Amino acid sequence: MLYFDNASTTKISKSALDTYTKSSELFYNPSALYLPAVKVSKELENARNFFLKYFNADKGSTFIFTGCATESNNSVLKSAITRKDKKYIFSAGEHSSVHNTAKYYQELGYNVVFIPLKSNGSIDISKLECELDDSVALVSCIHVSNETGAINDIKEIVRMVKSRCRNALVHADGVQAVGKIKIDLTDLGVDYYTISAHKIHGPKGIGALYIKNINKFKPFIIGGEQEKGLRAGTENIPAILSFKTALEELKIKDYTKLKETIISNLNCDYKLVSTDNCVSNIISICFKGVRAETIQHMLEGYDILIGTGSACNSKAGLNRVVSQLVPREYAQGAIRLSFEDVTIEECKQVAEELSSAVNQYIKRIK
Ligand code: PLP
Repeated sequence: MLYFDNASTTKISKSALDTYTKSSELFYNPSALYLPAVKVSKELENARNFFLKYFNADKGSTFIFTGCATESNNSVLKSAITRKDKKYIFSAGEHSSVHNTAKYYQELGYNVVFIPLKSNGSIDISKLECELDDSVALVSCIHVSNETGAINDIKEIVRMVKSRCRNALVHADGVQAVGKIKIDLTDLGVDYYTISAHKIHGPKGIGALYIKNINKFKPFIIGGEQEKGLRAGTENIPAILSFKTALEELKIKDYTKLKETIISNLNCDYKLVSTDNCVSNIISICFKGVRAETIQHMLEGYDILIGTGSACNSKAGLNRVVSQLVPREYAQGAIRLSFEDVTIEECKQVAEELSSAVNQYIKRIK
């Protein structure tokens, strides 16, 4: 089976799985006061400190562990969106866990503004600039698009927002950025940053949220005093420690050669959505007059698994993000290839089978 859908999820690594299994023995509740539980609590704090160091977090900041990146994103919006006289700004290319939460608040009557994307898939900074004033309370912009791989210049966005809006907080969803580009949280200057373990060969069901200033954050999940009162619920120690192992193993690699091999071996009519400003492990491609799901199933017949981005992002068969970047007749046929340690030969094979599936489809409907 050739797996070309790593942006959707990755296989847990052997060592992350080993950590998960071994640390499942550490079953004591880290909030308890007896010695075995205190040891677990120490492991938890070691992991937190590792995350802070790994991402060069700001002094006084913290990471809280969450159930997933979706929860981290929801937590930021719920904490920040409190007043109807304030403005809340989002890129039009957010993951559905931010986009649909923002829509939810918009329907409740909050002033939510979506900033359009440029044709390369990044947020249109000049349009963002026009919206910046002292009424802005939150700007949320995805760091690397899960659909196209487009990279947003978060450091520049933070600089602009902080210079024009007195009290605005900036959040970036970094789920697809971790392991693909270098992340230095102090340098980026963000107030919040979301990450997820299962995109980097860690376990599912564990995310984290970087919080620069805990005094400005109100918890989403309320209950006990876990995570210093910032996220209630007994911590998932095996998943947290396994997430740490996945991070320790992570190496940023350049997949440009693989990407170029796929593109140069396509032998059908296509439109490339991912351009130069994108990470090298994601290619979003569209085919005119083709339904992406059909192509996905045809390739599955050849033991090739690819993404359509539609799992949590489709409305009337159209990819919400890609449809902003290409004409409708192309957007219906938007597929996403996301890869890591595959060979040049495998990339050629995928490009050939993909082209053949598209050509067959078009022949059939003509
Ligand atoms: N944000 C981005 C950019 C993603 O790609 C995903 C996963 O698809 C998420 C958030 C949600 O992650 P999780 O599955 O951990 O909730």
